[in-house]
Amino acid sequence: MYYQPQIAIATGEVVGVEALLRWRHPRRGMVDPGELIQVAEQSAVMRLLTRRVVDDVVEQLAKWSAAGLTLRAALNVSVRDLHTGEIADQIADRLTRYGVPPERLQVEITEGALMADPRRVLASITQLHRIGVGIALDDFGTGYSSLQHLRRLPLSEVKVDRSFVLGMADDPDDAAIVRSMIELAGALGLRVVAEGVEDERTWRLLHAAGCDVAQGWFHARPMPAEELAAWLSRYRPVRPAVAEAGGRGGSEGESRASS
Ligand code: C2E
Ligand code: MG
Ligand code: MG
Repeated sequence: MYYQPQIAIATGEVVGVEALLRWRHPRRGMVDPGELIQVAEQSAVMRLLTRRVVDDVVEQLAKWSAAGLTLRAALNVSVRDLHTGEIADQIADRLTRYGVPPERLQVEITEGALMADPRRVLASITQLHRIGVGIALDDFGTGYSSLQHLRRLPLSEVKVDRSFVLGMADDPDDAAIVRSMIELAGALGLRVVAEGVEDERTWRLLHAAGCDVAQGWFHARPMPAEELAAWLSRYRPVRPAVAEAGGRGGSEGESRASS
């Protein structure tokens, strides 16, 4: 797993990380997780993969906690993982076994997957919510959320899809869409995370729009857990009002910025 920091825009504080799957194939090198998951989803492999992700992430949270790091981690699940109660049971079991408080964990599910058949996943989502694990609606804006469902599902967060965020500094329509999504989610009491924040301009626009949390290359790329500890010790919160010019960069291949 690689972990990408999520930063509270108002304070610059690191509030959590998203766990992202990485597979280094012996001959093909790094395999894109999108590609991997598309294939895995067609078989029982997905179930096994998700089980492994849950195990690894909860164990990592316990390790960070032992090292004095209080972080929340979000992990991604595939919609079929939520069709049975298995995943919620496993999460409850792991959290107890590792002594990790449930609010340290969050589960992300894409809007497209969730809205395709909300009733089918409601039991699992409700169970997770009852345990105290937050649910994030991922890739918000790419599926078709009925506002009814947005209101009724026990969600704690929406993540504005990066396709809108990437364009917002140059495209007024993207910027308008992002602002509307932030406003809608905020009005429903949901925390709003923008993914794909690549530069300072976007970050400032998000701050002005009232977005809660930013995740993207501007702050850091996804990185292995060991690197994250070092990154955190180097990290100095930057608030939009006092930001210096220039990018910040981070792991996964070459750093984009030299500051
Ligand atoms: P996602 O959950 O929406 O994850 C965010 C994606 O945006 C990640 O792609 C991340 O590397 C990328 N990203 C982060 N910051 C930036 C940025 O500033 N600019 C740009 N252009 N991209 C950025 P990644 O790691 O390739 O993952 C792709 C998708 O694969 C994820 O999208 C998620 O849907 C899925 N995925 C990843 N790990 C898992 C997993 O463990 N289980 C499941 N079921 N799906 C996973
Ligand atoms: Mg995600
Ligand atoms: Mg996403």
